[in-house]
Amino acid sequence: MMVRRIVKTGVAHALHLSGADKLMGLLTGARSIPLVIGYHRVVEEAAREENCLPGMIITRNTLERHLDWIGQRFDFITLDETGARLRSGEGLDKPVATVTFDDGYRDFYTHAFPLLKRKGIPAAVFPVTGLIGTSQLHFFDKLYHLLAQAFSRWRDRHRELSRLLVGLGMPVPERMETRDLGAYEAVRALLDSFSQREIYRVMESLEGEIESEEELLGNLRLLDWEMLSEMRHSGITIGSHTVTHAFLTNETFQKVLDETMLSRAELEKRLGTKIEHFAYPSGRFNPRVVAAVAAADYNFAYTTCSHQDPMYPFLTIPRKMLWENSTLDSLDHFSSALLSCQVHRALDWASPCKLEHRRAWPTF
Ligand SMILES: [Zn+2]
Ligand SMILES: [Zn+2]
Repeated sequence: MMVRRIVKTGVAHALHLSGADKLMGLLTGARSIPLVIGYHRVVEEAAREENCLPGMIITRNTLERHLDWIGQRFDFITLDETGARLRSGEGLDKPVATVTFDDGYRDFYTHAFPLLKRKGIPAAVFPVTGLIGTSQLHFFDKLYHLLAQAFSRWRDRHRELSRLLVGLGMPVPERMETRDLGAYEAVRALLDSFSQREIYRVMESLEGEIESEEELLGNLRLLDWEMLSEMRHSGITIGSHTVTHAFLTNETFQKVLDETMLSRAELEKRLGTKIEHFAYPSGRFNPRVVAAVAAADYNFAYTTCSHQDPMYPFLTIPRKMLWENSTLDSLDHFSSALLSCQVHRALDWASPCKLEHRRAWPTF
């Protein structure tokens, strides 16, 4: 990991100094559409967040540096304006950018909203409607907690987890065959392999021995309806991120329709506004999922990678996902050269998208 950071930092500096980051951006088509940035949680101090899934946090300080750097080179526009520009196909002479925040964590309201307001920067939030105002965790956060706790007790993690899965009649994902399986790798393998209902069965088996959800909540608490309403009135765009954050490519077509339609209906009823934007949970889409999003009447939908389906260009709008470590150099300092390369997609070779956007619809 460290070696990769050093290599990336070195390449970023070389590319940035030579102006090649911008050229690569042009060649890869990154400038042909508005820049859409995606974040998740915004925190005060990264060190306090060791219980959080990697890649989910950015500190308020680093976020401010990102916004300042981007603001010097791009005009910030709203997500609605981004949509309008995409539709009209114009506006490419002056680069524009928009910032989005997925999952509806409460720390967006606490840490990012005041910063955005002070700087006059428009932004969009994609909450998960079934969890708004509840004291529940996102199911992936809960899975991570439960597994991390189980892993701290289990001697042979792979054997114990395999036994649990087999006991539930579920196959053991091949990717879990590593010797020192970590909780994060296990979470990813489970989320990649199973439907949400199956994941809940795994969690129920783990939960028998583990503390309650309320105790786990802490910093992972989510937004409530009053906060969303207040932010909407201050110019924050609210979009949908499903009802339960199900990974849609692992679900039945009916479940995908429910997740996309019911979340939009709930947001529209509670906020009294038309909801036009949708973000795919974890960026997972395939042709069937995109068709469901179209049927649910969204005008624009956002991925987490640079894959754009030519059949549905407005429903597979690329986003650049950023987090705290994505712009830290090998000495853990913020690097504007790295940010430049990330924004221009000059480092995408280092972490190519591994999602199966074309995979056939699962049969279950
Ligand atoms: Zn999400
Ligand atoms: Zn992709």
